[in-house]
Amino acid sequence: MKLTCPCEAVTLQISAEPIAQFWCHCADCQTVHGAAYVAESIYPATGVEIVSGETTNFALKKTPRISCAKCGTRLVVELAEIEMRAISGYLLKDAFKPSLHIHCSEAIAPVRDSLPHFANMPAAFGGDDRLMDW
Ligand SMILES: [Zn+2]
Ligand SMILES: [Zn+2]
Repeated sequence: MKLTCPCEAVTLQISAEPIAQFWCHCADCQTVHGAAYVAESIYPATGVEIVSGETTNFALKKTPRISCAKCGTRLVVELAEIEMRAISGYLLKDAFKPSLHIHCSEAIAPVRDSLPHFANMPAAFGGDDRLMDW
């Protein structure tokens, strides 16, 4: 599947099924995106490729994030330690089907929906499976 940023300067090629799709409430995402929480879809690192277009690299703390050099849209998060790459869920439009919320202990406000709200991360991704009470 090929995806482009909103200005269409950058094209991404996604060649894997998502490992997970979720809403991330971490302080890093909040700051970088200027949002309360962020849509993310993660893949094996080899399944996400930037095919064309000029990008910029930025890390607020330690996680490198790749953006379109022209429109500034956040495109890819590098998760090198776990050999994965996340893309901004908004790029997927209808194909973004989140199944959980993560890093909810850092949430600005509770989001009440039918999905599980993990305080940090599910055990399957190295977390402790703890859930929030909302
Ligand atoms: Zn985050
Ligand atoms: Zn762009």
